[in-house]
Amino acid sequence: MSRHGFELKSNEQIVLMREAGLITAAALREVRKAIRPGVTTLELDAIAEAAIVKRGAHSNFQLVDGYFHTICASVNDEIVHGIPGGRILQAGDIVSIDCGAEKGEWNGDSAITVIVPGEPTVDAGTLARRQLLSDVTEGSLWVGIAALAKAEHLHEVGSAIEDYVVEQSKLHNQRFGILDQYVGHGIGRSMHEDPPVYNFAVRELGPKVVPGLCVAIEPMITAGSNKTKVLKDGWTVSTKDGSDASHWEHTVAVHDRGIWVLTAEDGGAEKLKPFGVTPVALA
Ligand code: MG
Ligand code: MG
Repeated sequence: MSRHGFELKSNEQIVLMREAGLITAAALREVRKAIRPGVTTLELDAIAEAAIVKRGAHSNFQLVDGYFHTICASVNDEIVHGIPGGRILQAGDIVSIDCGAEKGEWNGDSAITVIVPGEPTVDAGTLARRQLLSDVTEGSLWVGIAALAKAEHLHEVGSAIEDYVVEQSKLHNQRFGILDQYVGHGIGRSMHEDPPVYNFAVRELGPKVVPGLCVAIEPMITAGSNKTKVLKDGWTVSTKDGSDASHWEHTVAVHDRGIWVLTAEDGGAEKLKPFGVTPVALA
């Protein structure tokens, strides 16, 4: 996926980007509601596409060269970029859904992980470990967003995410692997722009966090090693050791009065509260 230079967005542009963010959120809400045993990932893809189109937007995943779907659906040991198809979801599966919408010139990008409800086809221990994996991944996303709210430089986000994951690993005596070959990104007129947004500590400080910086933060975490492989379909990234994986993502804007989580319906208010961070809506 190509990366272009990034521009800082004005408040007016961020308000426009919020529309794309809310449409992305609505599509994921509808997909989440439809996740149940027996549904295929291709049916979920159609639900996401309809949700986006009926709101006057279009899928930005379909603008990615060689990709023809609206979501990525990554099940169990698949981490990201799973192609929707005939796979039938079963109760207890851990499935990550990644989705994005483009409205006008502006983009949203967000991902959730869901444990398929119903009478589980896996044992209670596996089910609990999958829920923990999703909770830790989602938790690390919000730690990263909260860090962005206070950061001087962008790469403080990755340090905060890594610290949290290491701490959770010790707390639960459970191995977690943070992917290092796939990272978050700037977002705006393209879904993928500079700068990269790491989910781990790096030596560089990264760009200054200034009003107009818009990024997609997206931790991808496994319940084992962080080594990955790409399946024969050329897209699906799965764990090399067969461990389960989770992916959570939000599009976040920094502006002159604070931060605003553009792909969260409440702008991030509820999840940021424990960090003492209050997101600020521009409209
Ligand atoms: Mg995404
Ligand atoms: Mg992304």
